[in-house]
Amino acid sequence: MKKVVLIVVGIILLLCAISVTSLYLLVNSALKVEKNNMEIPVFEEYEIPSYKAKIFGKNIKVKIKDNINKDKIGNYKITYELNFIFKTKKVVHVKVVDKENPVIELSGEEEVNACPNKSYTEDGYKAIDNYDGELTDKVSVDKKDGKIVYSIKDSSGNETIKERIINYKDETKPTIKLNGGSTIVYNLGGHYKENGYSATDNCNGTLTSKVKVEGSVNTKKAGSYKIKYTVSDDANNITTVTRTVVVRNTKAASGNNDKGVIYLTFDDGPHATYTKKILDVLKKYNVKATFFVTCSGPDSLIVREHKEGHTVALHTASHNYKTVYSSVDNYFKDLNKVSDRVYRLTGVRSKVIRFPGGSSNTISRNYSPGIMSTLSIEVVNRGYNYFDWNITSGDAGSTTSAKGVFNNVKNGLSKSRGNVVLMHDIKPYTANAIEDIVQYGLKNGYEFRALTYETRPTRHGINN
Ligand SMILES: [Zn+2]
Repeated sequence: MKKVVLIVVGIILLLCAISVTSLYLLVNSALKVEKNNMEIPVFEEYEIPSYKAKIFGKNIKVKIKDNINKDKIGNYKITYELNFIFKTKKVVHVKVVDKENPVIELSGEEEVNACPNKSYTEDGYKAIDNYDGELTDKVSVDKKDGKIVYSIKDSSGNETIKERIINYKDETKPTIKLNGGSTIVYNLGGHYKENGYSATDNCNGTLTSKVKVEGSVNTKKAGSYKIKYTVSDDANNITTVTRTVVVRNTKAASGNNDKGVIYLTFDDGPHATYTKKILDVLKKYNVKATFFVTCSGPDSLIVREHKEGHTVALHTASHNYKTVYSSVDNYFKDLNKVSDRVYRLTGVRSKVIRFPGGSSNTISRNYSPGIMSTLSIEVVNRGYNYFDWNITSGDAGSTTSAKGVFNNVKNGLSKSRGNVVLMHDIKPYTANAIEDIVQYGLKNGYEFRALTYETRPTRHGINN
C-alpha cells in the first residue's frame, strides 16, 4: 500500500515538474527579439530592434531598458524583460561607432610652384573630424619626391591622406627697371651718363650686379642710340630691355632764301571732290603746292598731283593717333604704308613728311610719353625732312567758312619769311577759299612754291 502511494505521489510530482518546466519553456520562448547585435553611427537617431511576445495567442507586456548614449562611441545594451509567472530576458548588444573619415583642408593650391633654390613654404592646412573635432595638431606631414603628404587618423582609426604637389621650377623672368625711363633725350654735345637700373627676380632676389649693359652713346653726333640691358636668373630666364638715348640738335636749320614765299600745304587727302577742285584752281593759276597724303581717297588724284608738278608728301597711312603714336615701330610701319602707296602711284620715294598733329602735338603723350622727342630725331636719321607750319588756316578747327579760311591765311602772311600754310583738302570751305588765296598772293607779290626735301623746314618745338 505504501509503495502504491509513493508511486502515485511520485507520478504527481513528476507531472507537476513537467508542467512547470513546460510552462517555463513556453514563457521563455515567447519572447523573440529581431537581432542580438547592432551598430549605430555616432550622433545618429536609431530604432531599437522589434520583438514579439505572445502566450496562448495573447500579447504579453515587455519591459525594455537601455543605457545607450548615441553621442558617445562605446558598447551598450538593450534589455527586453517579460514577466509572466516566470521572468525572462533578452539582451541586444549595441555599438555606437564612428566610421567617418576626418577631413583635411589645404590652404593655397594643391599644386604649387616653388623656387628651386628655396624650400616650399607651407601654405597651411586644417584637419577636422566629425567626432574628435579639430585634429590639425595631430596631422603628420611628410615631404617626398616633390610631394607633401598630409595624413591623419581619428580616434576610431579612420584615416585620411591628402597630397600637395610641389613643382620646383622657376619660370618667371627677372624684371629690369630703368631709372629715368626707356627714352632719354640729350642735347648735342651734352655729357652722357648712365641713369642707372635695378634688376630683381622672384627666386634670386636682387640681380642688379649681374645686368649686362651693351651699347654706347656719342653725344657729339645727333641720332638715337640703343642701350641694351640683359640679365638672367639661375633658371636661365632671360630679360632684355632697351633704352633709347636721343641726342638732338637744338640749333635751327640754316638757310633763309624763301622770304615772301607761300607754301600751300594740304593734309589728310586726297578727297574725291575737294582735292579735285583745289587742283583745278592751282592748275588755272599755275601754282604749285604740297599734299601730305594718307591712304584714303582715290589713287587717280595722287597721280594727278604728281603729274601737275605738286609735291606728294607723306602724312601716315591711317592718321590714327592711337596707332601711329603707340610706338616708334608702329609709327614707321604706318608711314611706310603710305610711302608704298605714293611710290606705287608716282614712282617717287617721298622723303617729305608731316607728323599727324604736327611735331609739337601733345596728343601722342596719351599713347607714348616722349615719343615725339624720339621720332623727330629718328625720321631725320632715316633720311626724311619733316615740316610743320607757321600759318594755320583754321580749317581743322573753328573756321568753317571760305571767308574765314581766306582771312586766316591772309592775316598770317609775311614778306619777311617763308610762309608754310596748314590747310586740309578734305574740307569744302578750304576748296572754296583757295582761289581767293591764290589771287591775293599773286596780286601782293608773293611767290607760290611746293615744299621739297631741300626746303628749309619750318618746325615747332617738341612738347612730348
Ligand atoms: Zn592731319
